[in-house]
Amino acid sequence: FIPKDSFGEGTVTIGGEDARHIARVMRGRPGDKLIVSDGASREALAEIAEIGEGVVTAAILEMLPMTHEPKAKITVAQSLPKGDKMEIVIQKCTEIGAAAFVPFLSERTIVQYDERKEGKRLERWRKIAKEAAEQAHRNIVPEISAPLSWKELLKSAEGYDAVFFCYEKEEGLQLRTAVAPWAERLKNGAAENAVLVIVGPEGGFSEDECREAEEAGAVSVGLGRRILRCETAGMVAAACILYETGE
Ligand code: SAM
Repeated sequence: FIPKDSFGEGTVTIGGEDARHIARVMRGRPGDKLIVSDGASREALAEIAEIGEGVVTAAILEMLPMTHEPKAKITVAQSLPKGDKMEIVIQKCTEIGAAAFVPFLSERTIVQYDERKEGKRLERWRKIAKEAAEQAHRNIVPEISAPLSWKELLKSAEGYDAVFFCYEKEEGLQLRTAVAPWAERLKNGAAENAVLVIVGPEGGFSEDECREAEEAGAVSVGLGRRILRCETAGMVAAACILYETGE
């Protein structure tokens, strides 16, 4: 993945960390082929022409169709978990096909969120998303927003076609059953593709949060009769949604 302005007339110019990676880690040589993408509208097969100090120049051989993205644009909203679990969520859900991540703070979020360190963490999360997207041959790098408050998250729910609130105490409706009619309409072009999946922290959601989510239009869903760790739930939900949409 390279910035949009790296694409020129018949060539691409790769700089920074990516150029170093090609030269030192991949031990690239002139004549080697690589796939370059601007993460939005252009992807190409290119051949390395020159490896300079911090810059790699490659000739575009052919433009490639961008066919690896699912129709469903899944945003995983994850209540900030402890340690490096958010990194696992981002890496694995990116491989599975999530389009965006929204970390948020809820009543039982255990980690202390330090505004001053926000930039560094976000930067690291975005790097993990980019690397996972490259390895999974995604056409886009999922977006990661700065952490939201619970209220901000619920407000943002208005912008989605379907919102699923993962709740282990939900006995009636399983995610699969809730997703199926929407997935069918999506396949027929009769539904919008933006879906939000909300996952709680280690201690789960409070009853108040459950009520507030439903008031904001979220559908409370279960993910089976076992209690999943918070970092597993988003992966299961994303995979289940893509299974139902056939992707
Ligand atoms: N504290 C809860 C308990 O011990 O019963 C478990 C919370 S669980 C570790 C963390 C989050 O994962 C939950 O808030 C929920 O969003 C999601 N989750 C885990 N298992 C689930 C299930 N079977 N159905 C739906 N959501 C689930």
